[in-house]
Amino acid sequence: MKVLATLGKFRDQFKGQLIGPDDPEYDQARVVWNGMADRRPALIARCEGVDDLIAAVRFGREQDLRIAVRGGGHSVAGFGTCDGGIVVDLSRMRGLTVDPEQQVARVQGGAHLSQLDKQAQAAGLVCPVGVIGHTGVAGLTLGGGMGRLERKFGLTIDSLLSVDLVTAEGQQLRATKDEHADLFWGLRGAGANFGVATGFEFQLHPQEPTVTHGWVALPIEKSLEVGALVRDFMAAVPDHVFVGLSFGVATDPPFPAKLAGMPVILVGAMHAGSQEEAERDLQPLRRGMDWSADTFMRKPYLTVQGMSDEAMSWGHRFYMKSGFVGELTDQLLAVCAAEGSDVPAGGDCSFSFWAMGGAISRVSDEDSAFTGRTADWWLSAEAMWDDPAHDRQHMAWARRAMAALKPFTTVGQYVNDAVESDVASVRSVYGDEKYDRLVGLKRKYDPDNVFRLNQNIRP
Ligand SMILES: Cc1cc2nc3c(=O)[nH]c(=O)nc-3n(C[C@H](O)[C@H](O)[C@H](O)COP(=O)(O)OP(=O)(O)OC[C@H]3O[C@@H](n4cnc5c(N)ncnc54)[C@H](O)[C@@H]3O)c2cc1C
Repeated sequence: MKVLATLGKFRDQFKGQLIGPDDPEYDQARVVWNGMADRRPALIARCEGVDDLIAAVRFGREQDLRIAVRGGGHSVAGFGTCDGGIVVDLSRMRGLTVDPEQQVARVQGGAHLSQLDKQAQAAGLVCPVGVIGHTGVAGLTLGGGMGRLERKFGLTIDSLLSVDLVTAEGQQLRATKDEHADLFWGLRGAGANFGVATGFEFQLHPQEPTVTHGWVALPIEKSLEVGALVRDFMAAVPDHVFVGLSFGVATDPPFPAKLAGMPVILVGAMHAGSQEEAERDLQPLRRGMDWSADTFMRKPYLTVQGMSDEAMSWGHRFYMKSGFVGELTDQLLAVCAAEGSDVPAGGDCSFSFWAMGGAISRVSDEDSAFTGRTADWWLSAEAMWDDPAHDRQHMAWARRAMAALKPFTTVGQYVNDAVESDVASVRSVYGDEKYDRLVGLKRKYDPDNVFRLNQNIRP
């Protein structure tokens, strides 16, 4: 209330929509992806453009409000909202153009991945991004950006050419490899800390519209056997191939009926090359298992990219812990099989492994703030449920499961998965040397820590 009474000049300047607790739209406007982040901001500022953003940040500072910046609203920790503060909401800034000649996409700070996927593919091009279409380009990119094309084209930040940024002082900057190069280094992996990103430019890559994609589920008792096969397969696999492994309970169709309700290990792959190459390259994997129930076939890349959008729709309760790991050892697989079989009722708990290597590992870890490129796999323990009465058990499962896997983890952590933002946790995301370098950048670009609703670098 106090905030709304002080809007004054800001209300006159602001061209977008200002929504407070008494507005009929408030309850819809305050929602973010994770149902656990049920917060009540004092004001939601839906910005129409850069001037609105600058005015909203200035107003938030004048009124000494916490400032949450919301791109796609997908933050696992719910950093795109807050209690009692102002949400600088970019949902009206979703413009996106693709220049087919230069093979460059220009994307505003509120756009979603599905827009980038669709518009790039319309020109026979692609930007490597994540696997859920309603995720924000901004938050994903500023943290790194992992997905099915990461072995072929690298992380999303490896295709990033420039970021347009509004700083806490309302200054507009463009960061590239040559302009504000120090900032560009930090934006690629710790980017939510330095300002509001209003626009991004990405180098796109030619990509055929059809890929080969599928998976097979096997009883979890076969984990070591399957793991050994995948280990051998990955040793000689080309960058076209992305492999994912999951451990969990087969709850929903399309699992084969004989596996319903059983703990399973699921092996999935996407081959981003031609049909002939896919048949040749995936053969060692398919030959080694009973693939009678596999779902492998040629599919549009856009279909694959959209296939989990509904299952991961807005409003579920979600918690995760993640890390990077080296080789798929028997010991590691055994822990996953044990923890993946011992899950609480009333939700969905699982481990996911995503194959790294390929193009990711050909960029030096020193190239950007993102830390962990030398790992073989990204690994997460994820819990999703709907009933708040199940919060404790599901969060406890993810914590316990990841604690059991801690001895296998290697350097770094994917910042976009990190829920904790105390100094020790954020330090462990980047390692001491990079964290100290990021502190220097934070002191230069946001010394008052205006942008602190993130995996925060303390100035
Ligand atoms: C279901 C699910 C699936 C996911 N899948 C993937 C995946 O496949 N690959 C992957 O790499 N990651 C994935 N993630 C992680 C995802 O990348 C992060 O949650 C990301 O931060 C979301 O960005 P957003 O813009 O949607 O989120 P928001 O909640 O809007 O923001 C996230 C953070 O970024 C900041 N931010 C947002 N927009 C801006 C901006 N314009 N300028 C400055 N700061 C900004 C926010 O302040 C906040 O700290 C997934 C997350 C979920 C929940």
